[in-house]
Amino acid sequence: MEYRIAVLSGDGVGPEVVGEGIKVLRVIEGLYGLHFTLRHGLVGGAAIDATGDPLPEETLQLCRDSDAVLFGSVGGPKWDALPSDKRPERGLLRLRQTLDLFANLRPAKLYTALIGASSLRPEIVQGIDIMVVRELVSDIYFGEPRGIETLPEGERGFNTMSYTSQEIRRVARLAFDLARQRRSKVTSVDKANVLETSVLWRREVTELAGEFSDIALDHMYVDNCAMQLVRTPRQFDVIVTGNLFGDILSDEASMLTGSIGMLPSASIGGTVGVFEPVHGSAPDIAGQNIANPIATINSVAMMLQYALKQPQAAQAIEAAVESVLNQGYRTGDIMAPGGTRVGTTEMGALICTALQQTAAAPR
Ligand code: NAD
Repeated sequence: MEYRIAVLSGDGVGPEVVGEGIKVLRVIEGLYGLHFTLRHGLVGGAAIDATGDPLPEETLQLCRDSDAVLFGSVGGPKWDALPSDKRPERGLLRLRQTLDLFANLRPAKLYTALIGASSLRPEIVQGIDIMVVRELVSDIYFGEPRGIETLPEGERGFNTMSYTSQEIRRVARLAFDLARQRRSKVTSVDKANVLETSVLWRREVTELAGEFSDIALDHMYVDNCAMQLVRTPRQFDVIVTGNLFGDILSDEASMLTGSIGMLPSASIGGTVGVFEPVHGSAPDIAGQNIANPIATINSVAMMLQYALKQPQAAQAIEAAVESVLNQGYRTGDIMAPGGTRVGTTEMGALICTALQQTAAAPR
């Protein structure tokens, strides 16, 4: 099988961690008889420096013409003084919007070896495996009208929360489909006791559930969900929610598992998905070979799972990461007493070796 992958490394630690993701992809190629054609595009600050635009048309075309996009991170102090519509981060937002990536998937899965890195007690977080599905291209972030107006008594800021039935149904359908491949439970999160958008959200999700009689659906108010996530996180399988609530809940859920350097994500739903670590460009550690590449390597696994439909290869990567962590190897952000500290490239190399060993082991 042949696949075209657009590689947008971006700024800061982006190129370092994406480099390790690519090494893993090359090992997968050999092990699973796949062929990846990698084509690099400019994005973020690097693209601003070269073209004046954080998402040049050429990059967008490259993404449209690919089977998946592997994304690093964008931004940094060099571009912080630019107006908000010209900043590197705007390139990523435009990419998501243009490709109509309406669902953002963020897994929160605990590696047993890292149980001590969670901010919660081991008995609470042990065994958690949550998938947060956040609607990504609508809600209060995009609703009109919006602005800041001047009134006689001072200024007033305003935004519009809005969802259509179709926007709710498409992301809910994706969540139900995902639950079928997991533990068959969906928790839909809203604020239907206060907001009309949430009343519609709840009604549409409930109606759609009729098509998924094998999936257990429950509804939860967002404030309760925030509490339940730190009280009994094991109760959750798939959480589906709107853009604003999902922004907050996905950060909360993912941090239960430890460092930001571990967290992958997938933005899907359009024709071409974007797979990227949750973290930013980490300018404070860029260029030092100390960034944790696991978030990006796990994003490669998500790309294989969701875009390229190669679940075996995805599982092999996840198993290799787990095995390296079980052997005690740690980058600085997840270092613990007794661990062996390694850098970005060493961690990537260890995961590649573990992948090869897993594949060579008798089954
Ligand atoms: P950040 O995620 O870059 O860094 C936050 C902290 O986490 C820092 O201390 C950093 O050193 C650490 N960290 C991040 N990734 C790590 C890794 N792989 N291994 C070890 N430690 C890691 O967030 P920030 O500092 O708020 O933002 C820096 C820049 O990145 C800003 O310009 C911001 O706008 C941008 N940003 C981009 C994205 C993206 O590209 N998707 C996301 C968030 C922030």
